[in-house]
Order: sequence, then C-alpha cells, then structure tokens
Amino acid sequence: MVSDRNGYQSKNVCVIGAGPSGLVAARELRKEGHNAVVLEQNHDVGGQWLYEPDVPSEDFLAGGIVSPPPDLSSTNFVQVHSSIYASLRLTSPREIMGYSDFPFIVKKGRDTRRFPGHRELYLYLRDFCDAFGIWPVIRFRTRVEYVGTVVDDGEAAGKDPRWVVRSRDGKAEKKAIEEVYDAVVVATGHYSHPRIPFIQGMDAWQGKQMHSHIYRVPQPFRNEVVVVVGSSLSGQDISMELVDVAREVYLSAKSTEAISHGLSKVISKHSNLHLRPQVQLLGKDGKVVFEDGSWVTADTIVYCTGYSYSFPFLDTKGIVAIDDDRVGPLYEHTFPPSLAPSLSFIGIPRKLIGFPFFESQAKWIAQVLAGKRSLPTWNEMMQSVEEFYNSRDAAGIPKHNTHDIANFEYCDRYGDYVGFPHLEEWRKELCLSTLRKADADLETYRESMEGDEELLMEALQSPHFTQLGPQEFTLEAYGFTLRDHNLPRLHNDL
Ligand SMILES: Cc1cc2nc3c(=O)[nH]c(=O)nc-3n(C[C@H](O)[C@H](O)[C@H](O)COP(=O)(O)OP(=O)(O)OC[C@H]3O[C@@H](n4cnc5c(N)ncnc54)[C@H](O)[C@@H]3O)c2cc1C
Repeated sequence: MVSDRNGYQSKNVCVIGAGPSGLVAARELRKEGHNAVVLEQNHDVGGQWLYEPDVPSEDFLAGGIVSPPPDLSSTNFVQVHSSIYASLRLTSPREIMGYSDFPFIVKKGRDTRRFPGHRELYLYLRDFCDAFGIWPVIRFRTRVEYVGTVVDDGEAAGKDPRWVVRSRDGKAEKKAIEEVYDAVVVATGHYSHPRIPFIQGMDAWQGKQMHSHIYRVPQPFRNEVVVVVGSSLSGQDISMELVDVAREVYLSAKSTEAISHGLSKVISKHSNLHLRPQVQLLGKDGKVVFEDGSWVTADTIVYCTGYSYSFPFLDTKGIVAIDDDRVGPLYEHTFPPSLAPSLSFIGIPRKLIGFPFFESQAKWIAQVLAGKRSLPTWNEMMQSVEEFYNSRDAAGIPKHNTHDIANFEYCDRYGDYVGFPHLEEWRKELCLSTLRKADADLETYRESMEGDEELLMEALQSPHFTQLGPQEFTLEAYGFTLRDHNLPRLHNDL
C-alpha cells in the first residue's frame, strides 16, 4: 500500500472474475490509482457472455440422481461458467445496458438489432477492454481456489486484514500459487450453480434430467416429450424454442394462475405446448405426475429452476455466509462490515439494470479503498443490514429473494450515497416499456418499437451517447426513418 501527497492510498487489489462486474472494477480501481489484477478462470473475458458450447463435463444429473440432489451451491466449483444458450437474445434493449461512459452502440457488420444475440454483448465487453486498456491486467486460465485473511496480520493492530489468494493455472496438475493482496473484490457472478429442487422419485426416474445451465440447442430433443420445470425467463425461452422440435412440451409453473399474459398467448398459439402446475412426483416408469393429478410419460425433464450464490474459494471463518441465497451480512450488498473495505462484492443484486449498477459499486469500492470516501461505523452498517432484512421480511419477500432489487429508487439512493449519477429517466422508462411489452407478447416484444421512439430519441441525444462524438452511430441504425418522425437530426443540430 502506498499513500500520495493528499493521503490517498494506492492498494494492491485482486479482482476475481473478468465478467461485466470484474472488468468495470478493474477500470475504476486503476482510475483511483490502485494496482489491480484480475484473475479469470476462463480463456477470455465476458463471464456469462462468453458462450461455452461444450458442456458434457457439467451433466451433474446424468447417470442417476442421488436423493436429495447434490448441493452444488456451496462447496463445489462448476467446470462450465456460462449458462447462456445458443439462441439467447438480450431481454433488455441495448441502449439501456451500457456502462455510464461506454454506450452499447450499434456497430457496422455486427448484430445491429436493438435486442441483439449474446455474442454482441461479449463483443461490447471486449471493446470495453480495448477502450480502457484492461487487457494487460487480466490473468486468464487462472482459477482462484482459496481466499482468506493473512493469519495474525492486521487484526491485532486494528488494521484492515490483507488477503492470501491461492490460484492455479487452468491445467489442474500445475502448482497453485499464493499471493498476498491488500484487498479482494469478488466479481464471480451467480448464474452458474444450479438450484435443483427435490422431487419425490427423481433418484429412480428413468429418463434424462438436466438443468438449464447446460441447455444449449433444441436439436437433441427432436420428437421427445419434454417437461420444463420453472416458468421464469429461461423456462419460457427454452419452452418456446423446444416447441419447434419436440413432440410435446409441458411447462410446469409454480402457479398456473400467475403466469403473464405474454406467456398465455404463446401457449395458446402452440398446440404442443401445455401449461401444468408443479411436479408432484416422478414414477419409475417415466411418469411425471403434476399437482393437479394429471400426468405424462416424458423423455426429458429440464429444470429451469434458477441458480444459487456460491463462493467455494472464500474462507471468511463464517463472517460472510450464504443462507438460502441471502449473502451476508453485506452493507448495501457490497461490503461485509467486519471485513470492509478490504473485502467487497460486485454484482450480487439482481433485477436491476446491471452494468451501470456494477459500475457504481466499482466506483464506490475504488474510492473507499483509496481513502476518498469512508464507510459508516461497524454498528451503523450492521444496523442498516438488519433494517434492510426486516423491511424485506415485513414486505413478505422470501429470504432467497433478498438480493432482488426491482426498484429504481434504490439504485438512485445508492448512486447518491456513492457519488454516482442517477439512472437517466429514459433508461428507466425504456426498461419499464420493455417489461410491459414482454408481458403483452413474449414472442414479439423484441421487434416492437411501439411507444419507444421518443424515448429512444431522447436517449440517443443524451450525453450518454453524444459523448462519443457524431460519427459513432446514427438513429437510422436503430430503425428510425428521420423524416417520418420529424425529429431533429442527431448531433448536427446539437
Ligand atoms: C441465461 C441468462 C440470461 C441473461 N440475460 C441477461 C440479459 O438479457 N441482460 C442482463 O443484463 N443480464 C442478463 N443475465 C445476467 C448476467 O449474468 C449479467 O448480465 C452479467 O453477466 C453479470 O456479470 P458478473 O461479472 O457479475 O458475472 P459473470 O458474468 O457471471 O462473470 C463472472 C466471472 O467470474 C469468473 N470466475 C468465477 N469463479 C472464478 C474463480 N474461482 N476464479 C477465477 N474466475 C472465476 C467467471 O469465469 C466469469 O468470467 C443473464 C444471465 C443468464 C444466465
């Protein structure tokens, strides 16, 4: 650790993971003068957006299931990080996704759709690394196996602990190396460790059972009867894709009444897609029995039942624990009070506009580590965490949804607190408009501009886009014919 003339400190910081959270962390840490190193287990950047087509090693449920099913959440490493399937397109329009100073623009010769496929976001992240010179600080094929405090270091003297980070080159036979850092930022994502429900009879069921984590393409399911368990985003997407190849698809939802209008519409359009309630039990003869007593004989069950938080490398002596997908205690989902600021997390919150939020977390961490901002006392942070838990409990939000934010006000308050601008109104409005359209028609919402034109115009004229200069993009690229809209020509009029 080094201090400059203003007393600001430059620290050696280890960022774990080179996905959207880790990359922006590296950028912000360097901006604040820290010496940042990013350790990434994969061969490239992108995190979830680095599509991994080869998944056989990850077929946990092949060869029989133990009962209860394996707990993949807490202690084990998964071999395949990305859960992205081949056909996946973004669920939010590109204009709302970018980091504050790096808009996700349309580029010639690439996927120019407003809701592009997953590769376009991977390329955006590579562009980000080019633009901010991040490549040299990333060590690829380096899996972090252990993170713990340096024994007897700091604690006694009341100083921040330092951290031992043990990592290994991708080839398992290579020797692990240990390094000591002033701080560690955990940015390892949370859509890789399958949550698998326990269903009576699943250990003896004869068909194939798999989690959506390893679903890639529909072809292997040709002419099969498939039960898709779970009706949120992956369950919907995968069912809609399977109807074209499978004989029958049964989509099992927690509540058949609570499904969206958009999903009902899809179901009514496809004669081989059927909605069913939860699975009650699995019979040895291949039967899948639903809670309403109906049943089918199926070839495959795809569990689209979500993912669990998991930090198998992290040893905090129980200070940070995962309890039913509540990671805590974490002050504002970021700092564990007893280990702050030398240990922090980026990307834990869900159900918000991810990239700008990760960026605000990264700025906060970088500035706190530099000594430019300070955190409240331990008591105040713990009290804030407690109050947050209580408010969630009072609102009837289950513990496993602790980190689901779904609230722009929270993001704005967080921004105020950490010195990050509020999300622009157009971002919020375009996000809400997309949710409304998906709710109305799941199959077509990505192609619809209806009602978004003015907002998109506002977005493209805002500093978020104009900071790039006039040559970087055109409104036409977003599907506009300017004459039709009688709107000012972007940039030339500014
Ligand atoms: C099917 C699916 C669809 C999605 N669709 C959208 C969408 O449309 N829009 C959206 O905004 N978000 C979407 N997401 C969420 C997506 O996860 C986030 O956009 C984003 O990738 C989170 O970034 P992250 O950096 O926090 O985590 P990740 O992207 O998961 O990156 C974590 C990185 O950490 C690395 N890592 C993990 N463990 C270790 C270790 N021990 N040692 C070294 N490196 C390690 C991983 O290899 C990875 O590179 C989707 C997710 C899934 C699964």
